[in-house]
Amino acid sequence: MIPETVLTKPIEGWYQSHPLLKRFTATEELCWCNNDLPGFEEIQHTLPLSASDIAEATQRLKRFAPYIQHVFPETSVNKGIIESELIRIPNAQRALEKITGRSLPVTLLLKRDDLLPISGSVKARGGIYEVLKHAETIALQSGLLSEKSNYSDLASKACRLLFSKHQIMVGSTGNLGLSIGIMGAQLGFRVTVHMSSDARQWKKDLLRQKGVTIVEHRDDYGAAVANGRREAKELSRCHFIDDENSTDLFLGYSVAGHRLQQQLSEEKIKVNGHHPLFVYLPCGVGGGPGGIAFGLKQVFGDNVHCYFAEPTQSACMFLGMYTGLHDNISVQDFGVENKTCADGLAVGRPSAFVGQVMTSLLDGIFTVSDENMYRYLALLKDTEDIELEPSATAGFPGIARVTSATDNCFSPQLPETAFNNGTHIVWATGGNMVPQRERAEYYHKGKKLENNL
Ligand SMILES: *Cc1c(COP(=O)(O)O)cnc(C)c1O
Repeated sequence: MIPETVLTKPIEGWYQSHPLLKRFTATEELCWCNNDLPGFEEIQHTLPLSASDIAEATQRLKRFAPYIQHVFPETSVNKGIIESELIRIPNAQRALEKITGRSLPVTLLLKRDDLLPISGSVKARGGIYEVLKHAETIALQSGLLSEKSNYSDLASKACRLLFSKHQIMVGSTGNLGLSIGIMGAQLGFRVTVHMSSDARQWKKDLLRQKGVTIVEHRDDYGAAVANGRREAKELSRCHFIDDENSTDLFLGYSVAGHRLQQQLSEEKIKVNGHHPLFVYLPCGVGGGPGGIAFGLKQVFGDNVHCYFAEPTQSACMFLGMYTGLHDNISVQDFGVENKTCADGLAVGRPSAFVGQVMTSLLDGIFTVSDENMYRYLALLKDTEDIELEPSATAGFPGIARVTSATDNCFSPQLPETAFNNGTHIVWATGGNMVPQRERAEYYHKGKKLENNL
């Protein structure tokens, strides 16, 4: 069921009590600072998930590594662990300085989740993890697998036959469907993806080729999820992957935290009170960036500052957290249409589960116009020869936005030196699987807009 909107007072009243909503309804870029952010140690025990849950997910992914390596040989370099590089982008940094007219003497890094193997987006973390966990549960119950088995046994005929009697269903704007469809089909599951109207044709085509059933919806993401959830309920042996509520998805994303810590230490980049970490994460329904932020907080505590980036048209997490109404409100209730080129972020109603967890973990949220996402897309191509999809560029302006005089989204508790001493990570969340023709179109759009960034 789609949650009902509960506007506890008329919209005019909301404008008065929450002045940023005026900018929001005008779809102007904005930045919301979570001024009441408590210290991590104070609230750690109140969180619904813990470091041991993340450790369990990490162990599970290790058990699956031999299987992943066996069926997706491109993961061999990392021995079957699905992980991405962390790189420096000095040319893009100089271009940013030019645009903002400010010197940005910081360490700027790009997390290349756009290159994650198997499905080329951040969803290769959460989506694949949940499918694997489900497969493990079924295989253990059947006796075909034990936790001590070599998990490459899962590629056997017997296991595939077992999984073919089970179904997996999901609602998606595209990338979650890709990760779940590719992984699920590889294991032998029957997979159905309910796609929102935003989903790109090539994603549907690719999944159909793999034998995945695609149900196309004329409505947005919320409706696709609701339909999938309803259909799944009526079927036996059907697992619905619930992007709005799933803790398994969330934990799949969260393992990024300690892996990033490892990568930073390999680069000899320190993170402490004097050298904080700033992370800019594109946000749709919230599970991906939320899970990553949760994992980072467990590792770095108060020394990491996480910000979400949303399209001006789909700033549902901003709306939910700012008003405190979470999934009881949608951007459409304020006359904003949820129409954006950032298909991976085209969500009008946020996850209540994630929004509530983030209340005590997130430093802030800023929004980005479609035009600017296209411009940053072209800028990254020109300066670093990196090709992202529009959604994946949303974090890029964070470094300028968080400290800009007009936005002022910088935590008041932080000394200004913290920003310059800090390491700033733009989380690039997708792009590797985008067909060449679409890449060229994206770039072309960005170039046309280039002159007034
Ligand atoms: C899904 C997605 C995100 C955000 O993840 P959510 O869990 O929806 O918040 C960001 N970037 C891309 C490219 C995505 O596909």
